[in-house]
Amino acid sequence: MPMPKAKWSRFGTSIFSLMTQAANKHGAVNLAQGFPNFDGPEEIKEAAIKAMKGDYNQYAPSVGLPRLRELLSSRMLKTSAVKYSADDEITVFSGATEALFCTFQAFFNPGDEIIVFAPFFDCYPAGAFSSGSKLVEVQLRTPDWTFTAEDLQRALTPRTKAILVNTPHNPTGRVFTKKEMTDIADFAKANDLLVITDEVYEELVYDSIPFTRMSTLDGMRDRTVVISSSAKTFSLTGWKIGYTFAPPHLTKELRAVHQFTVFCSATPLQAGICAALELPEAYYGQLRADYQKRRDLLCNGLTELGFKFRKPEGTYFVVADYSVISNLQDQMFSLWLTETKKVAVIPTSVFFENPEDIAARQRYVRFAFCKDTETLKAGLRNLGANL
Ligand code: PMP
Ligand code: GLN
Repeated sequence: MPMPKAKWSRFGTSIFSLMTQAANKHGAVNLAQGFPNFDGPEEIKEAAIKAMKGDYNQYAPSVGLPRLRELLSSRMLKTSAVKYSADDEITVFSGATEALFCTFQAFFNPGDEIIVFAPFFDCYPAGAFSSGSKLVEVQLRTPDWTFTAEDLQRALTPRTKAILVNTPHNPTGRVFTKKEMTDIADFAKANDLLVITDEVYEELVYDSIPFTRMSTLDGMRDRTVVISSSAKTFSLTGWKIGYTFAPPHLTKELRAVHQFTVFCSATPLQAGICAALELPEAYYGQLRADYQKRRDLLCNGLTELGFKFRKPEGTYFVVADYSVISNLQDQMFSLWLTETKKVAVIPTSVFFENPEDIAARQRYVRFAFCKDTETLKAGLRNLGANL
């Protein structure tokens, strides 16, 4: 009997793990992996501890604690005026990562094509690979990371089944405009496509820019799977509590996969996130205000140093063009920054399916600003800024 062949080796170790390891090894300021170096509110932790000391230690219902689903339903109604039923339209997952994986498993077959905006988050290709489907890239146009309705049309083939939209967008920080979202919606309706929206940065939108949710647009709610997470909104990336909002016929499929992926997500942490969703509205305003200050600090420093970028409207990332500073290819430049300048970043070519294409032509790295002010200043000083 021959041993099975290696199947997943093309994926190797994620760039986020690699750059965090490199940052630790070289004593560099870690502006690479997107995790805050501060935690969310104490009352959320207290609620999880209380749940753990109480009666929340056995399996939760596979679809998630009823109270958590009710609270998610209320929050969605409040922020977007879209009503989702806690019973058969909302499901709790072990992070948006698991929700994305289950979405790929639930809906796609070998040969199916899914349109995605490049650059894109690193778990999308793995999800496509796991289902035998294929990502078809619409490359956002530099330097402003925009696209046109014609770009969407060019990506369409008879095998296209869906379009995956991440807004606010990792890594560019774009928040797609109402016009861009409407173009996607019209395209999806005209071609009868499923739409998957990754909204994990939904609360991190700055300068009072409106965040357009796909599910609020005419005729879109019933063809959209909305994916989000508590990770960024509550600065608890290690808890891995994510969720989906989708009409019953789509939710049924997602739940079938989730049931056999993890069955249920950590029960006391779900109870903790209930407390998070009971925080006053002021929490979200403060979160945005704090992040906007961190963004401005990093952006001002990077400008002083000669980096060029579109100021992010959302997320906690800046993608910066370093071509006036170095001619190194982005992976080499990132290692050089980490080892020599003691600042770790993410090379942007990893967010494309064909890293050779983009890396050969363009020089971009991603900086994360989900760090306290002192850490951001230390990083900028290491890079040579006068702070
Ligand atoms: N989507 C995007 C765009 C992300 O940046 C992340 C980062 N964590 C995720 C999904 C995964 O979220 P989670 O940590 O909840 O699995
Ligand atoms: N979303 C985070 C980022 O983009 C990292 C997530 C992870 O490490 N898997 O940096």
